[in-house]
Amino acid sequence: MAYIVMDATILAQLKSAVGEHGLVVDRNQVQTYECDGLTNFRTTPAAVVLPRTTAEVQAVVRICAEHAIPFVARGAGTGLSGGALPAEGCIVIGLARMNCVLSVDLENARITVEPGVTNTQVTERVKAAGYFYAPDPSSQTVCTIGGNIAENAGGAHCLKYGFTVTHVLGCEVVLPNGEVRWFGSEHGVVDPPGYDLPGVFIGSEGTLGIATKAVLRIVRRPETVQTLLAAFHTATDAAQTVSDIIAAGMLPAAIEMMDRLSITAAEAAVHARYPMCEALLLVELDGPRAEVDAQIREVRELCSMNNAWEQRLAQTEAERSLVWKGRKAAFAAMGRLASHYIVQDGVIPRTALPMVLAKMQTMSEETGLRIANVFHAGDGNLHPMVLYDASVPGEEDRALILSYDILRLCVDVGGSITGEHGVGREKQCVMSYMFHEPDLATMLRVRHAFDPQNLSNPEKVFPTPRLCGERRHGAYVPHPAEAAGIAEVF
Ligand SMILES: Cc1cc2nc3c(=O)[nH]c(=O)nc-3n(C[C@H](O)[C@H](O)[C@H](O)COP(=O)(O)OP(=O)(O)OC[C@H]3O[C@@H](n4cnc5c(N)ncnc54)[C@H](O)[C@@H]3O)c2cc1C
Repeated sequence: MAYIVMDATILAQLKSAVGEHGLVVDRNQVQTYECDGLTNFRTTPAAVVLPRTTAEVQAVVRICAEHAIPFVARGAGTGLSGGALPAEGCIVIGLARMNCVLSVDLENARITVEPGVTNTQVTERVKAAGYFYAPDPSSQTVCTIGGNIAENAGGAHCLKYGFTVTHVLGCEVVLPNGEVRWFGSEHGVVDPPGYDLPGVFIGSEGTLGIATKAVLRIVRRPETVQTLLAAFHTATDAAQTVSDIIAAGMLPAAIEMMDRLSITAAEAAVHARYPMCEALLLVELDGPRAEVDAQIREVRELCSMNNAWEQRLAQTEAERSLVWKGRKAAFAAMGRLASHYIVQDGVIPRTALPMVLAKMQTMSEETGLRIANVFHAGDGNLHPMVLYDASVPGEEDRALILSYDILRLCVDVGGSITGEHGVGREKQCVMSYMFHEPDLATMLRVRHAFDPQNLSNPEKVFPTPRLCGERRHGAYVPHPAEAAGIAEVF
């Protein structure tokens, strides 16, 4: 992608908005911001600004609006769908320096933070008082609340506690024209009257403006937590156990599944002594002690009924933490098994798990590409990882095509192309597979109501033929999925 040098007058305006140390234009330094966790797509931004206050964000956005310059908000850059990928000639607005906890209100169980505060920092701040922040993406030690809001981030414990949208009571937003507004309640009022603007904003992937403050709900720590590992010979048995647990009327805090490849990678990384098996379930129950004790017995019975050959209850907090550390490190640990991989994020009805896992196995055999699975089984939120070697000609394209085929399979069984990682740049091509044209047009009308100039994180979420591919030196290079005829022509 061409690197566009920004006009000197605009640079001077940006410098006066954020100060000398808040503006990055050095070619090598701005390259740090050319991609997020999805490294297959890269564009060098024209400039990066690092504001410290809402007023500075507002000043930058006003400059962008005045000169029709596209901009993209960036938290920690851990996104996995290319959400923070810059558009050509755009300004990256990095929120990492807006990282203060502004107030803690334990009596009303809420906390107000700036967008650059990391997910873990929220819990750290209220832990001693017996509270926690429930959404827990595996990237939580690094990813920011701003990024979580934009992606409506999930995590293992969202099965019971709900996704980010359940935990944001209000947020301050700099709109794409530079105006500042509160969506929801600045004072943490639950379900205020009027349109549910937080519901519109949360999960909008930075296309409707920039969150500069958020009021979050915090939750009381449960009396007790029990974590069970159950090993199965087949994914079908493990998947049946997941359905049986929910059908029995229980709602565990988390039900996660790992396959042999994921266990191998995670075990090598953290040495959690995972049983080596085809499918490992990690079931966590929390709540009042008597209830958890009774339910864990029931869960164990269901695991046995479905042929679990080993069951192990974590005996100490240290053991429990290690089990989770391995699960949460599984994506990163995959680098031990392959030089490259694509993490996908599809959702399916829980009951379709055995069929979809079997079909993915067939797809893997047909393409000769390994697929590792580690996912939120209770939510039916799959994270297949397609392993490949980019140094083998054509293998990256085949991996991308396989990963899109998996998403289409998810839609075919009544699911979705994303559960928590967002559409971003990566999945625009399959949006039309999931939504009809009038539905997409309605979403676009919402987008344009907020951002008529199309400046806030353009070229994301919505499909367009050109954007499925890339322009290199002016020539259009179709996206591999488009070239293979599997992306819709819009
Ligand atoms: C190892 C690993 C594990 C992961 N596990 C999970 C998981 O379990 N669950 C999950 O949901 N995700 C997971 N993710 C994905 C990612 O961490 C989340 O999407 C996270 O919410 C991104 O936060 P971020 O601060 O890194 O945002 P970025 O990647 O910087 O940005 C993500 C999107 O948010 C927008 N954005 C950022 N800040 C703002 C703001 N203040 N206002 C408006 N828009 C903004 C950006 O423009 C972009 O579109 C994982 C990622 C990795 C690398």
